[in-house]
Amino acid sequence: MIPYGHQEITEEDISSVVRVLRGDWLTTGPSVREFEERFAEYVGAKFAVSFSNGTAALHGAMFAAGVGAGDRVVVPGLTFAATSNAALYVGAIPVFADISPDTLCLDADSAAEAAERSDGRARAVVPVSYSGYPFDMRPFRELADRIGAVIIEDASHTAGGSRNGSRVGTQADMTTFSFHPVKNMTTGEGGMVTTDDEEFARRLELFRSHGVTRDHGTSGRLLAGGWDYDMTELGYNYRLTDIASVLGTSQLMRLDANVRRRREIAARYRAELDESLGWTPPPDDQGHAYHLYAARVPAERRREIYDALRANGIGAQVHYVPVYRQSWYRDHVEHDPASTPVTEETSAREISLPLYASLTDDQQSHVIEVCNSII
Ligand SMILES: *Cc1c(COP(=O)(O)O)cnc(C)c1O
Repeated sequence: MIPYGHQEITEEDISSVVRVLRGDWLTTGPSVREFEERFAEYVGAKFAVSFSNGTAALHGAMFAAGVGAGDRVVVPGLTFAATSNAALYVGAIPVFADISPDTLCLDADSAAEAAERSDGRARAVVPVSYSGYPFDMRPFRELADRIGAVIIEDASHTAGGSRNGSRVGTQADMTTFSFHPVKNMTTGEGGMVTTDDEEFARRLELFRSHGVTRDHGTSGRLLAGGWDYDMTELGYNYRLTDIASVLGTSQLMRLDANVRRRREIAARYRAELDESLGWTPPPDDQGHAYHLYAARVPAERRREIYDALRANGIGAQVHYVPVYRQSWYRDHVEHDPASTPVTEETSAREISLPLYASLTDDQQSHVIEVCNSII
């Protein structure tokens, strides 16, 4: 089976992990700092704070932004559940806005309407750079400034992408990444938040390690000695290990090459898939990180096409069933699907074709041949 996504692990990745395993620090050691510093430098952000996964990173960003009970958080429905779950973790209520048919990312006008429906309680807007597409940040900045909200970009798909010539990771107030094996780079499980804001960075670090500080300046009480620490916030253990971090540093060094290969594969799909058979290509952009090749097919034929691909050894996937259609959401979060028609239509038509750096030309030829033979 050719999957829709797969990690790429080199001998260098393996030997770097083995080096850490033979050393003194498996967690809270120098490899974590090094990964964070290099990641911050790579995206051009002042701070990068690592987390045990991308969901924890989103949770941390909600906490750092001060999102709390009863606040509203504007999110797209066409995303992985973790995006809006993070709002729920801090007691906030996700408000689903529609996506743009051109970018498949959160639509800024729809987000503004959703914020207006929130009675001044919208504290955060969370656009997802869906599929790795670097959507235009400017209208979100205007919206956030107008309503006093924080922008948290869920860039789980977008490591290695760039927006107007700058790497994705600095244009929002906080940007979160995931290093799950299907993403553009991996640490097994892992995540990161990048920001230029020192206070956000401080709160992120506190949150991912039990809310505990050893710093007299931030502690609420005087620390008695070197052994003492103070828990000033209700945090979690969301730390990334040194084992995972060193893999991250090694993967980061190949991220540009990985994304270049992804763009090459996407360009070939674009050129060779027979559009007259109903394949609508995904939005394109120079800075696209191409986590997904999110094609669209006629809704009434999606099931048949999916089954035909699977029968031919191609593990296509659908991204996503809208979050608000999950059973838990139906029971707990109010949303009228008719208010998000583009999300509904896209979700019914989307199919992600295999796209990852180690996909071979022959494998891609097979995928294209099968796709073009389905009439
Ligand atoms: C993968 C993903 C996440 C969650 O990341 P994990 O590392 O799996 O916790 C969140 N949002 C989006 C859009 C994702 O694709």
